[in-house]
Amino acid sequence: MNIVILLGAPGSGKGTIAGRLASENAHLKHVSSGDLLRGAVAKGTPAGVEAKGYMEKGALVPDALIAQMIQDVIAETTGDVTMLLDGFPRNVAQAEILEKTGAPIKSVVLVDVPDTIIQDRIAGRRTCPKCKAGYHVKALPPKVEGICDHCGTALVTRKDDNPDTVKDRLVVYHRETEPLIAFYEQKGLLRKIDGNRDLATNAQAFLAAM
Ligand code: AMP
Repeated sequence: MNIVILLGAPGSGKGTIAGRLASENAHLKHVSSGDLLRGAVAKGTPAGVEAKGYMEKGALVPDALIAQMIQDVIAETTGDVTMLLDGFPRNVAQAEILEKTGAPIKSVVLVDVPDTIIQDRIAGRRTCPKCKAGYHVKALPPKVEGICDHCGTALVTRKDDNPDTVKDRLVVYHRETEPLIAFYEQKGLLRKIDGNRDLATNAQAFLAAM
């Protein structure tokens, strides 16, 4: 098992790219920290109960809480698998925790999209609450409006995708997560792709860079 980290602002398309690549390549496994947390909130686990308030505000949940979830997934992932790690680490402290697990990091790919475009992208974002497939009302619409192509479930807008919370999440990204660019650049692991293109092009560029 090895890990490819996806870095990028909320709404940069990390999750959509990782989801597409994992669905097309059996050895790629998409692990999204946000999906793990939303799953815990929906189930009402102790971690979910603790995480809920932070997530609704667009703040980061405590490092130990999310690190434990990621460590559990790493521990149960074996064999010839590349984990596409989406949303973790989100700050330098989490990157150091990840390093301590000893899991080999193959590369870190930054999906680069300007903030001005992010706001628009998130406004049109829709998600399947059941299979987690991602859509966009204009850029990536489902075949039937409001319905997931894969499992027929009604699509939802994430609670934290409202414009005010998105602004807060972008502030958190620049303050907490962006320092990871220099952190991984120094280790010679950083690659960068232009995320401001269509999904097929972005996914191809990601695969070539990782
Ligand atoms: P995402 O789906 O990656 O945009 O994450 C949604 C929310 O989950 C974030 O705004 C945070 O509240 C929380 N979250 C996800 N990943 C992390 C992480 N690595 N560290 C702290 N909070 C996280």
